[in-house]
Formats: sequence, C-alpha cells, structure tokens
Amino acid sequence: MFSSELAAVDETNPYEIAIHQLDSAGSLLGLSQDILAVLRQPRRELTVRFPVKMSDGTVKVFTGYRVQHNSSRGPTKGGIRYHPDTNLDEVRALSMWMTWKCAIVNIPFGGAKGGVVCDPAALTPAEIENLTRRYTTEISVMIGPESDIPAPDVGTNGQVMAWVMDTYSMNAGHTVPAVVTGKPVSIGGSEGRSEATGRGVVIVAAEALRAIGLSLPGSTVVIQGFGNVGSAAARLFHRNGALVTCISDATGAIRNTKGLDIVQLEAYVAKHKGIAGFPESEPIDPASFLETECDILVPAAMHGQITGENATRVRAKMVVEGANGPTTPKADEILNHNGVLLVPDVLANAGGVTVSYFEWVQDLQSLFWTEPQVNHRLERVMKRSFQEVWQMSVHRNTNLRTAAYLVGVDRVAEATKMRGIFP
Ligand code: NAD
Repeated sequence: MFSSELAAVDETNPYEIAIHQLDSAGSLLGLSQDILAVLRQPRRELTVRFPVKMSDGTVKVFTGYRVQHNSSRGPTKGGIRYHPDTNLDEVRALSMWMTWKCAIVNIPFGGAKGGVVCDPAALTPAEIENLTRRYTTEISVMIGPESDIPAPDVGTNGQVMAWVMDTYSMNAGHTVPAVVTGKPVSIGGSEGRSEATGRGVVIVAAEALRAIGLSLPGSTVVIQGFGNVGSAAARLFHRNGALVTCISDATGAIRNTKGLDIVQLEAYVAKHKGIAGFPESEPIDPASFLETECDILVPAAMHGQITGENATRVRAKMVVEGANGPTTPKADEILNHNGVLLVPDVLANAGGVTVSYFEWVQDLQSLFWTEPQVNHRLERVMKRSFQEVWQMSVHRNTNLRTAAYLVGVDRVAEATKMRGIFP
C-alpha cells in the first residue's frame, strides 16, 4: 500500500519522519541537493550532563539537549521539554518543525528545541528549580535574546521560564527579559501567551470548517491531552459554541455526548490533577479514544499517536494537530485517502510561537500590548497563514501538510540562497 520510500521510514523516530517530510517537499519544490543538504541537518547540537542537588541531600546527574536547526531567517526559537522519554532525535525533529512553523506564519525566527530527560511529576518544586537553573547555565553558550530564545513545551511552564530568565540575567549582570518567552506577565510575559497555542488551534479549525462549508457552533470536538494546549483549545471551542464531547489525558478518558462543561472540568483538574472521575461524564477506553466519531479531532498530547495501525479507524471529519508530530506519514496517507481533512501541526499549533514572537518584540521595546491587541494580531496571522496554505493546496493539488511544507520550506530555502554560503 505504501511507497517503498515511505515503507523504509521508521515511524517511531520523529527525526526520520521530519527528514522524510522535508525530502518530499524538497522534491516537489525542485530544491537543489546543496540546499537540501543544508536543511536536512541541524546547525548546532549540544548535549549536556549536569548534577542536581536533590531534596534528600543526594546528587543526581541529568541529561539535557539544545538543538538549533536553522537560523537563516533570524534567531532560533523553540520550547524546552521535560519528559522521561525525550532524546536527541526527538529534539532534532522538533527543532526542524520549528523552522518550518516560523516560516509558515512568516515570523523572523529559525527553529530550535531543548529538552531534559526527567519526570517533572516525580520532582519537588525545589528540584525542578535547581535542575532548570543548572540546565540554563549549561546551555547559556547557545541561548540569548539575539541568538536563541526558549519557551515552554511539554512538562515546563511559566514558572520554569521565569527561572530560565532569572538565571540567564544573574550571569549577565542585568535583567534580560527577551531571552525567553512564555514568562509570567509580571516579569515581561505577554498577555494572551498562555492560551495562544489553543487559540490558534481554534482559529484554524474554524477557518478549515468554513473552507468546506461548515462552522464551529454545534460541531463536535474530541481532544487528546488537557495540558496547556488541550485545555485552552477546549475552553475556546466551548466558548465558540462547539460541543467538546470527549477529552483524554494521562489519567484517563471521559465522554459527555451533550458536551463537557469545560469551566467545571478545569476547576476539577486543578484540584484532582487529572480528568479521571469528573462527575458529569462517563469513562471511556483510552486505547480507542482517537477512533471516536466527531467533526474535529484534536491530538494535543504527544507525537506518534495516529499511526499506520489505527488511522483506518479514525472517524473524524477533520484532524487539527495541536501536538507536534501526532500523525505519522503512513497515517497521513491513510487519512488523505479516506478524505479526512488534516490541518498540520506546523500551521495548527503555530499560535504559540506567534505570540512568543509578540512577547519578544514587546520585551525588546519595553512597550506592552493589551490582551485584545495580542489576540487580534494573532487572529490576523493565523487566518492569513491558513489562507496561504489553503491556496497553495488548491494551486498544487496537494493535502494541507504538503502545502504547508511547500510554503515554509520554500521561504527558508529562499533565505538560505539569498544569504549565500559563508565564506
Ligand atoms: P502539557 O505538558 O501542558 O500537557 C500534555 C497533556 O497531555 C497533559 O494533559 C497530559 O496528561 C496529556 N497526556 C500525556 N500522555 C497522554 C496520553 N498517552 N494520552 C492522553 N493524554 C496524554 O503540554 P502542552 O504544552 O500542552 O503540549 C502538548 C503538545 O503540544 C506537545 O506535542 C507540544 O510539543 C505541543 N505544542 C505546545 C505548545 C505550547 O505553547 N505549550 C506550542 C506548540 C505545540
């Protein structure tokens, strides 16, 4: 069923997937082998191993990474992930996806990503602070407001970003708010940043529905993951009249066919640390969660969720990727074949990096915007980007992922060509 090229891709390795996606776009764009060779590999990679004093007085050594994929269009930008399974290939893939994402929404950044192999749920707040400060110091040779600007990702949040900013500033001898985004507003964060990724997901979902003659009110939505992205998306889908019928997280999966009350669910999760047991819902099987019938399916947890194995059973009209890399290339082919419209991660979850860009601009100017100003500019960027990708898909007769890659990779390749090869 699959081409021999696709059959050879190891679907458990996101970096192999990312290279396969680039190669496909490169061949459609007719990119030269020279340019492809530059784009296929990250520019800089750093692996650090560092000791952290634990709360019981012992010392534990952790491994962390920072990878900068491409800086042709500006400083590199990308989140920091704290997760037990993170590894160098995952961080490489995520850094490459950041490069295309920034180009697709046309903000002047290249792509980067970072990660520390750890389970934040098993660490005390003091241990997370010690780990963050030491990791920041270890990668300080790479990060900076003009070179590489981290942000939150899985397992990190505004507090972690505050510690990154403070550690970098202590070493610089003065306060450097623009070194990191996703900070609390009290120290130079942007209004609207915490829900920006989820807001972007809802904006592009509405645009995609409109493009096929449907609309949000009354549409049914199923969301995998109830963290930063999933909970904000759920809140905004709910507010815009859609019915969020099923949600899953690491603790379980729940359903209410009349629509879950997201306000109450958020209050419940704040108290119980997970969605399992939410009163006005029934538990469902997490194993077949992605196969639930709905209008819009939003994977907003981890990569590699919709695969060649389960894609045939997906019964959504549309998949809007809140997470990075939730759909493998084999699953892409199956969904495409079955007529499921897929809005790819590099477009659908770009609201986060867009408002991170706004935060960086505000920090550099020390001039801050109101939340309506931020939301309005975000909406403009997301709608324009969706239209550009949609037009490309019509023009080249391709699916939206390929179209998004054609837009993004072409912009990065153009910048690389214009700048030339140094020396
Ligand atoms: P998070 O840590 O805040 O939340 C992750 C959620 O996924 C949690 O609710 C967790 O319980 C759930 N989860 C974990 N394993 C699961 C499983 N097997 N089944 C169902 N749920 C599971 O992370 P986040 O910041 O919301 O990021 C989620 C995804 O979105 C990641 O792929 C991330 O790279 C991507 N992303 C995040 C941002 C951002 O601004 N935070 C921006 C762009 C993309």
